[in-house]
Amino acid sequence: MERITIFDTTLRDGEQSPGCSMNVPEKLRMAHHLDRLGVDVIEAGFPIASEGDFAAVQAIAAVVRRPIIAGLARACSKDIERAWQALQGAARPRIHVFLATSDIHLKYKLRISRQQCLEQAIEAIRLAKSLCDDVEFSPEDATRTDPDFLCQVVEAVVAAGATTVNIPDTVGYTTPVEFGELICTIRENVRGIENVTISAHCHDDLGLAVANSLAAIAAGARQVECTINGIGERAGNASLEEIVMAMRVRPDRLAYETEIASEELFPASQMLSEITGVAVQPNKAIIGRNAFAHEAGIHQDGMLKNPLTYEIMTPQSVGVPDSKLVLGKHSGRHALGLRCEQLGHQFDRHQLDEVYRHFVVLADQIKHVEDVHLLELISAIQKDRPAAADDRAQVKSIPLDVPAFAAARPDSGHGHSKLLRSMSVSSGAGLASFPLNPMAEHHGDQEDYLWGV
Ligand SMILES: [Zn+2]
Repeated sequence: MERITIFDTTLRDGEQSPGCSMNVPEKLRMAHHLDRLGVDVIEAGFPIASEGDFAAVQAIAAVVRRPIIAGLARACSKDIERAWQALQGAARPRIHVFLATSDIHLKYKLRISRQQCLEQAIEAIRLAKSLCDDVEFSPEDATRTDPDFLCQVVEAVVAAGATTVNIPDTVGYTTPVEFGELICTIRENVRGIENVTISAHCHDDLGLAVANSLAAIAAGARQVECTINGIGERAGNASLEEIVMAMRVRPDRLAYETEIASEELFPASQMLSEITGVAVQPNKAIIGRNAFAHEAGIHQDGMLKNPLTYEIMTPQSVGVPDSKLVLGKHSGRHALGLRCEQLGHQFDRHQLDEVYRHFVVLADQIKHVEDVHLLELISAIQKDRPAAADDRAQVKSIPLDVPAFAAARPDSGHGHSKLLRSMSVSSGAGLASFPLNPMAEHHGDQEDYLWGV
């Protein structure tokens, strides 16, 4: 398996995104977590940008010792010297120099010629290299740069001492095949490229950042730049958790390894959201609130029988405490029965039919049926019934003490705890007002599919 270097830029590119700025103590907390997560490089900030950025890079460099700590600099001596100053205390410092190379950036932003760009890049890398062994260069807007000129610049910075060449899709414009081809073009045409690490830095303006990063790796890139929760300029950067788990779940197609402790992914995501106050979209892959939630009845039924039916990775493998079975109108009886049991109510099939009918009506009205709603519903059904002895419908019920019984949840989730059985009391059932499905007497495992989908 080929080893991929994970370059985390949550604290630099991520921090540049609206609403995500962090102060020094917050960045420090996050940096410690990134260290625990196992990232190889932490881009800690852009030291010339502000006093706060400088202080954060300095503070992180002083205490986070395992990963490489990178500081960003434009291709000019002022920036490079400031970055180096901030990195003084680092065990493994890296200066990351960038300079735009696309004609549109040269003409309108920098107002310099290609020749001037080339000379400035060489001069900047020589200066950085005189200060620090580990130097990365990024030709900004590489994907909109003339490929011949791009190769010329890359060859020049490699000769000047760059050890990593990062190819940024700064504006999130490229596509996977095109980006893979660009990496191949660079590998085929740049002298000395085999002596340096090629890196990819993708933005998500077209939702392709992760796909583009993986395409770059397939074409020979061995470092990816990414962020927790995919935060970053505009639509964000490639999401670290998605790249890492794609490799972890599909080694047959993506035979690469990283040092990431995947069970720290969810905690890292939570910490970042907590610090920035920016929540993750519920359906976000890997770390979204719904990434391991199942509502559809057929899915819930399958999940309860074997989680592998609908999960390609376990929630535990990315640090999510447990799968969530959300009770809504798409839920099946299997899931409903289990939740009732966890709440201290154990029903036979006929009773469960009745509860289920009420449940579906309720779920249509309130979308998500919480435990408290379910308990009210059960209690209402039980009150309606005459205390008759219909032995077909013995309900094993117990006094409602939800927290206590939630804690006494049976280990397997399938069995009935001794506690619940020993405390069961009988209750009559008036099923007449809720005509049963004629099929109910003959149900097999398939029925949840009919009810729930
Ligand atoms: Zn970027």
